Amino acid sequence: MPLISFHGATGTVTGSKYLLESEDSRVLVDCGMFQGARELRLLNWDKPAFNPARIDSVILTHAHIDHIGYLPRLVSQGFRGRVFATPPTIDLAAISLFDTAHMQMEDAAYRTRKKYTRHEKALPLFDTGDAELAIKRMLPVGFDKFIAISDNIRFRFQPAGHILGAGGVEVTAGNGSGKTTIFFSGDVGRYGNPLTIDPTPPPECDYLVCESTYGGRLHEPDDPYQVFADLINDAITDKSVILIPAFAISRTQQIIYIINDLIRHKRIPPIAIHIDSPMAISATDIYCKYHSLHRIDIRELAPDQCMLEGRNVFLHKDQNTSKALNKLKGPAIIMSAGGMMTGGRIMHHLINRLPDPACTVVITGFMAEGTIGRKLLDGAKEVYIHKQPVAVGAKIMIVHGLSGHADYFELLHWLEPLTTPPRRVFITHGELSQSEAMAGHLQQERKWECYIPSLNEKIEL
Ligand SMILES: [Zn+2]
Repeated sequence: MPLISFHGATGTVTGSKYLLESEDSRVLVDCGMFQGARELRLLNWDKPAFNPARIDSVILTHAHIDHIGYLPRLVSQGFRGRVFATPPTIDLAAISLFDTAHMQMEDAAYRTRKKYTRHEKALPLFDTGDAELAIKRMLPVGFDKFIAISDNIRFRFQPAGHILGAGGVEVTAGNGSGKTTIFFSGDVGRYGNPLTIDPTPPPECDYLVCESTYGGRLHEPDDPYQVFADLINDAITDKSVILIPAFAISRTQQIIYIINDLIRHKRIPPIAIHIDSPMAISATDIYCKYHSLHRIDIRELAPDQCMLEGRNVFLHKDQNTSKALNKLKGPAIIMSAGGMMTGGRIMHHLINRLPDPACTVVITGFMAEGTIGRKLLDGAKEVYIHKQPVAVGAKIMIVHGLSGHADYFELLHWLEPLTTPPRRVFITHGELSQSEAMAGHLQQERKWECYIPSLNEKIEL
């Protein structure tokens, strides 16, 4: 009988790692880093509850760091197997892992210099060399093709929406009547979202591992096009600056897509969009490369044109032009990473712009507990950035319609085509209250047996 164990994304949205063990193979689905609150981040430094050297393969659902960010560490701890992912996931993972390595190295050097460490030298979780070794192990696999990992285990990806290249993973263990099918939802996207495609319904399965980021919440029914049109028209009248902390992958491209669309349809006048994130710039190139995997209609465009570029978009790769943005006067939009305001170039923009009542900070995604983004959402009048207090004078706005995650209603809709109930649904990837709410919905409305696993729990299937 196969065994499944949960080594992250239990009671939290980060650190996704699910280990599947059969007679002849050990497969890790996702290899994510814990993020957010300190007690979670410290888990990245613990010795894993499994032996990385004994894992044969890793399957990555998508390129977000909370699903791939532990991979370099897995390699440095002895993992020598193959890493399967879709081609866009591999391209996005490469930029994302290098960016995270750089950030970790800069942070470690800063803490060593400032003596913010109990050790003689602060260390990064992984460096660029580790990231490179991890990327070299990746093998591209398209959607809907079964790949045999061993005599006993095969898998295929199916589109999950969410971000470019994201997939749910159907794994079958065993053969004939002894066959067990497990479907890992990955992160499930939304329906009719700007830029991303709709998620494909899950296949019939014996066991389902289902995310629950919004297991107890419904997204506000706002129209992101209208919200941005109003915001930008106001900024043009007031000559003010809109600061958007945005995930470099997916969210930045969605917002550029919406703004370019609004300009094209003359719902707003042209406005300068400054992208201050080298990673977001590289991710945008990758989005343009895989245009058939999202909603960009290339029939409307010239061959060398991409809806995510254009004469209003200004790219800032080096630090000098990034710093020059501190003096930028409105009307203008500055978009910078990271999305949850836990690090990256957005931090210096926040120090510079948060105290200014003329500035609007627009929050466009999920903010985990303990992040500056969550504090701003909760109405903080002051936040600490690099251990310094920063007053919050700027207007804080939230745009709901861009979330990359299905809410519970959309998750139930996504699961509707499953006519045979799975033997058990493992609810993961949610803060505990959200996972409990999702389990409640499935138990009440579908009478499905649900279980919320705890960290490192192992279960026989
Ligand atoms: Zn994700």
